[in-house]
Amino acid sequence: MPIQERVKLRELLPEDRICNYNEIALGLNERELEYEANRCLQCKKPSCVKGCPAGLNIPRFIKLAKEKRFNEALSEILEINPFSATCARVCPYGFQCEGSCVLNKTGRPIAIGAIHRFISDYGEYKMKMVNESERVMGKVAIIGGGTAGLSAAFELSRHGVDVDIYESRPVIGGLARACIPPYRLAREVLDREIVYILSHGAKIKNNITVGKDIPLKDFLDMYDYVILAVGASKCWSLRLPSNEGEDFFAYSAIEFIENYMFRKKIFDRGLKILIIGGGNTAIDVGRISIREGLHPLIVYRRGKEQMPALPKEIQEAEEEGVDFKFFEVPKRAIIENNRFKGIEALKAKLGAPDESGRPSFEVIEGSEHFIEGDVLVSAIGQEVDSEVLTGCDIHLERGLLPHDFGGEYKDKVFSCGDAVSGPSVVVKAMRSGLEVARKVIGKLKENAL
Ligand SMILES: Cc1cc2nc3c(=O)[nH]c(=O)nc-3n(C[C@H](O)[C@H](O)[C@H](O)COP(=O)(O)OP(=O)(O)OC[C@H]3O[C@@H](n4cnc5c(N)ncnc54)[C@H](O)[C@@H]3O)c2cc1C
Ligand code: SF4
Repeated sequence: MPIQERVKLRELLPEDRICNYNEIALGLNERELEYEANRCLQCKKPSCVKGCPAGLNIPRFIKLAKEKRFNEALSEILEINPFSATCARVCPYGFQCEGSCVLNKTGRPIAIGAIHRFISDYGEYKMKMVNESERVMGKVAIIGGGTAGLSAAFELSRHGVDVDIYESRPVIGGLARACIPPYRLAREVLDREIVYILSHGAKIKNNITVGKDIPLKDFLDMYDYVILAVGASKCWSLRLPSNEGEDFFAYSAIEFIENYMFRKKIFDRGLKILIIGGGNTAIDVGRISIREGLHPLIVYRRGKEQMPALPKEIQEAEEEGVDFKFFEVPKRAIIENNRFKGIEALKAKLGAPDESGRPSFEVIEGSEHFIEGDVLVSAIGQEVDSEVLTGCDIHLERGLLPHDFGGEYKDKVFSCGDAVSGPSVVVKAMRSGLEVARKVIGKLKENAL
């Protein structure tokens, strides 16, 4: 049987998106949904499911969507993914569900992400409290109100557990709110899911930074269990020597994005922004810069093919006018009259693969040259902010939290999300939050025996 073409996913054109933050992907209409759902082969052993970090029963939700049973489909999804509409927008499908679809071999995988989005947008969010017999008693503190913490809160509160979420920011949502730009995830979609999650009973305590305002130790007496879901959003600092002697520190990419997401205009329009890094965060700094009337230039030490950013994100950034310079390694900052004027950089070339199999880069000595810019932004990596551990005898391991803790924290404190895995994706943080909550529910059940 010939494989039908994949539906062409409708998106805003570059000229219609660079002056606003509207969602670029427009989703499927009913006719497109029907066409795409009919293309699904309903494999007996579906490989797409293996590619979905949430483990959603993809053939099942596609079948229900085909039969227009959207409420049922969403109800089943919410059982294992309370961030349904969010994931359906921000998941890197090409490397997950769609990348694992058998039709991917033909270049025409089912548009699983778009079908998932349709169900999430048109199905009804119904509460998911468990039966009385499955409920447990207990009190749990969750530190961090991002995807992982909120997912843990969902699972615990729907089992009847008393949950308090402590969050240092004035608003809940973590990086999904502070950093994922609305052109990928409209804020009303995120808000809708958070309202849904909290409707199961968890309470929020905003503007409290655990470690600074309350020591972690105090939680041991106040709660049965504590879940650390603090993310990994402290940018690695980029410190360059300068022509004026004193070292120069680049602006943090997370701070840059967060300021603009919370509507603070930090730089005058027209400035040239030099962004160091090659990942998705660097790309988002570039794309936000375009929307804010700035001129971004991404400076990366390897080539375009080696960039860790998703190819689609790179392509969209190029379409929007973000400039790139490849095989460039910053050497020092150039300052004139106390103002940053740019960087002196060295050219680089690819070298032998490193331990991870990625080609290394080799600096070409004597290739110094000047790259002009008004602002330097570092997007070279992130780690956990250790503030939460202030006063505890717990230490980060390679910039991350361990899964379980020793000493007085043993079997009382657990961790999840980016804080444990390192910078990852929403769907994995969500899954990790659910899993840690299930572990805690198991312990509460044992205690009750
Ligand atoms: C620019 C950017 C773009 C991204 N785009 C995508 C994308 O398109 N798709 C995708 O899937 N993923 C994307 N991600 C990654 C995704 O946002 C994260 O993987 C996910 O949000 C991690 O969730 P988390 O709950 O583990 O951590 P976070 O979302 O970081 O939440 C941790 C929370 O803990 C709070 N906290 C920290 N310390 C304390 C403390 N001491 N006391 C109290 N509260 C504290 C923080 O304020 C924060 O709210 C992106 C990330 C960035 C930076
Ligand atoms: S979009 Fe994400 S959550 Fe939805 S099926 Fe694909 S991988 Fe799973």
